[in-house]
Amino acid sequence: ETQVVFSTGSTNNDVKSLAEQGKEELFALVASKQESGKGRRGRSFFSLGDRGVYLSILIRPSMPIAQASAITAVAAVATCRAVESLFDVKPSIKWVNDVYLGKRKICGILTEAATDLETGMLSYAVVGIGVNVYEPEGGFPEEIRERAGAISTEIKQGTRAALAGAIIKEFVELYDKDSFGAFCDEYRARSFVVGKTITVIDGKGEQEALALGIDDDLSLHVQFEDGSEAHLHSGEVSLRV
Ligand code: ATP
Repeated sequence: ETQVVFSTGSTNNDVKSLAEQGKEELFALVASKQESGKGRRGRSFFSLGDRGVYLSILIRPSMPIAQASAITAVAAVATCRAVESLFDVKPSIKWVNDVYLGKRKICGILTEAATDLETGMLSYAVVGIGVNVYEPEGGFPEEIRERAGAISTEIKQGTRAALAGAIIKEFVELYDKDSFGAFCDEYRARSFVVGKTITVIDGKGEQEALALGIDDDLSLHVQFEDGSEAHLHSGEVSLRV
């Protein structure tokens, strides 16, 4: 089931309320505009008026919260596939939750989940995907001007709706059918941080590291300058490439 609205505060918040009220999984809400889109750790995700697509999908997977980054990864791959199906571009994934075109971020993904205290499994997860389809009039807001990008300069009627539909379709297909092994391989193949020197930012500060690989649990294997290695889990860190 998919519902479309013109504008809302945050599609994730709306879908979380519906989830709390018992809505069944694979419900999707698509908006043309968000008044207060969210990023990770209380940051905001800017809406571009009617130049972007903002959608949230409700799922009820039987998995522990520790595996929830897989949901974000599925959304990233689904977004890449959908963008490629409609535009002549090749996006790639910046571990763990961003989709880039060249050096610019064109999509942010935020997964929010609730755990059933009795089973320890997720009672639901809401994955929100925001895509900058076209550059806003007057350019991107100052705060993100350096890093944000859009997919296309050629505005075409119906393209944003088609993209929303394609993202939902690809997400559901990956969620339903794909083997996790094949999925991880595709996620790795679409990722651009491996082999690069990155800056790892966590609560304690910033450190340079070499990204060695992405493990099957989707953690990022890195080597710091002092030679020590670590497996980073999403949620704890941000990267600068
Ligand atoms: P980062 O992108 O800093 O590594 P992150 O992946 O955790 O961190 P999110 O929480 O997904 O980021 O998104 C919030 C951040 O994305 C903001 O801090 C801002 O820098 C950037 N941002 C916000 N809106 C947009 C947008 N429309 N397009 C591109 N980037 C944006």
